Amino acid sequence: MKYTAFLIKYAEIAIKGKNRYLFEDALINQIKYALKRSEGDFSVSKTQGRIYIECLTDYDYDELVGNLSRVFGITGICPVVHVEDRGFEELSKDVLKYIDEVYPDKAQSFKVHARRARKNYPMDSQEINAELGARILDAYPEMKVDVHNPDIMLNIEIRERIYIYSITEKGPGGMPVGTNGKGMLLLSGGIDSPVAGYMISKRGVKIDAVYFHAPPYTSERAKQKVVDLARIISRYSGPIYLHIVNFTDIQLYIYEKCPHDELTIIMRRYMMRIAEDIAKKTDCLGLITGESIGQVASQTMQSLAVTNEVCTLPVYRPLIGMDKQEIVEISEKIGSFETSILPYEDCCTIFVAKHPVTKPNLKVIKRSEERLCERIEELYKTALETEELMVVKWD
Ligand code: ATP
Ligand code: MG
Repeated sequence: MKYTAFLIKYAEIAIKGKNRYLFEDALINQIKYALKRSEGDFSVSKTQGRIYIECLTDYDYDELVGNLSRVFGITGICPVVHVEDRGFEELSKDVLKYIDEVYPDKAQSFKVHARRARKNYPMDSQEINAELGARILDAYPEMKVDVHNPDIMLNIEIRERIYIYSITEKGPGGMPVGTNGKGMLLLSGGIDSPVAGYMISKRGVKIDAVYFHAPPYTSERAKQKVVDLARIISRYSGPIYLHIVNFTDIQLYIYEKCPHDELTIIMRRYMMRIAEDIAKKTDCLGLITGESIGQVASQTMQSLAVTNEVCTLPVYRPLIGMDKQEIVEISEKIGSFETSILPYEDCCTIFVAKHPVTKPNLKVIKRSEERLCERIEELYKTALETEELMVVKWD
């Protein structure tokens, strides 16, 4: 079937009262971003609380639906057939042809749902429902009517032209990116942080990211893997500013001065401090990490408390109560898993102690950090000054 338009359904944003227009405009922006990456020419319009995409040229159905299914805020994507209004007789022929093409298997129940957006149509919606229903039953006796739970909900919208649609492809839900401020994601090469970025972005938050690397202990390939992960998230979130911070000297200095069982926790505190500095400079309203309670030594309640202590911005941890398996499932769904499991070293794993503290004591950790007083300020400043900034997007 050649669909000539798409009706975009959105749920959550429809209930936002006065903000509704802001949300719809953000959704339209994100839809346009998705269309730019799809072959073909399209136009997007908003009429009477609905968003329509008109296909002006040929396009690739699977590619287009795939791209739209990554636009947060969309709950359903309905491919539409337009027909000219040439009277009811012609309309019923068009509808029968539509059913025949879209549903080769006729042993299904249906309901006609007509809607008159143009009130000068000579029949009202009830009459259209009844009359079209009768014609369908005549033409396809295997079909039956079910008004409560039909297999096929056949929508007929009478506008300037007439819109016929019955299929809904699933959208990702959530809220359009750009409606809820911006957050700074601490993005490592693991499984968890890309999923965390995806989840917060789904709530309408624009994402920037920071990656700490430690050359030559971590390779170019490890860095490229993080860029690739950012690119995968950007399919959903839109372009990401990725800050790449050289963490080697800070890490070596901590390694030299502090007890080895406290390395990870002290390192995590420095990562959070730097991430927060960059976040504040770039108008981010919070930090985002892939932490989950108890997953590793640095993510016990005690460790999280000690890490959190250095932050003044809120830290969003969308995976906090999830099991690894649940996180893996999302990462497979969003397409980051295969990249995340590539075996490149991570700066956290290289300097990690055999037996890291699992119940760090804040006073003890702070005392250890005092041993860094001589050079840490200078190293911290250099790390910030030498950051590399990339814009990562999917194209
Ligand atoms: P992930 O799978 O996301 O790497 P993880 O299970 O390896 O997480 P940790 O290494 O303890 O867990 O890291 C916890 C969180 O800290 C990560 O989810 C990420 O948000 C952040 N993080 C860790 N290492 C880095 C890094 N090198 N650069 C930026 N953020 C990092
Ligand atoms: Mg990690």
